[in-house]
Amino acid sequence: MTTGIGAHRKHIQRRNELVEILRSKGIRDERVLAAIQSIPRHIFVDTALENRAYEDSALPITCGQTISQPYTVATQTELMQVEKGDKILEIGTGSGYQAAILCHMGADVYSVERHEELYHGAKKKLHELGYRANLKLGDGTLGWSAYAPYDGIVVTAGAPVVPDDLIKQLNVAGRLVVPVGSQKSQVMVRIIRVSEDSYREEHLQHFKFVPLIGEKGWD
Ligand code: SAH
Repeated sequence: MTTGIGAHRKHIQRRNELVEILRSKGIRDERVLAAIQSIPRHIFVDTALENRAYEDSALPITCGQTISQPYTVATQTELMQVEKGDKILEIGTGSGYQAAILCHMGADVYSVERHEELYHGAKKKLHELGYRANLKLGDGTLGWSAYAPYDGIVVTAGAPVVPDDLIKQLNVAGRLVVPVGSQKSQVMVRIIRVSEDSYREEHLQHFKFVPLIGEKGWD
């Protein structure tokens, strides 16, 4: 069992090491790195995996899903260019870790998850850490129109195509970051809404995510 001040210090040291790994892999946004340095990732994984929480790897969570690799979280967050006060929508709450990172950066966070167990688990953890993210149980391929438009939208599961509802829910100057491809491999796509009716699309590195399942995703 790892509790108490010794465990606390050990986690801080491991988070510092993780931040150095992410820096060496090319993450530059200091606000993203500071959030990763602060958020206790071990709280978002099963206690049996606690000692692996600060490795730069994806780990299994419940419902056959994964908490994304820290490098992936850092890359997606950096690509969204999050500013304090930005309204951000996340599709795929999962463990709640990415939502905690966004809350720590001062964003106004909205997040949708399709698995009830994960939705409740993330809600509890974010609440325990004192973060107020707005969580919804439902199909995130349709976005969350009630609170649109968003300054940033991040999809943390792999999509077959860019869901058009998400594009429509972007603010002007808003950034949508979504992995698109087959179920085996996806390219990170960033779409920036340049004006009311024009968009710029960039294709970046390849990643491997769990599938985005829903009306505008996989069956
Ligand atoms: N951001 C999460 C990563 C979780 S993995 C974290 O920090 O832990 C991706 C998540 O997307 C899974 O929990 C999966 O259930 C969820 N998901 C897949 N399709 C979805 C959809 N259409 N709407 C909402 N969530 C979805």
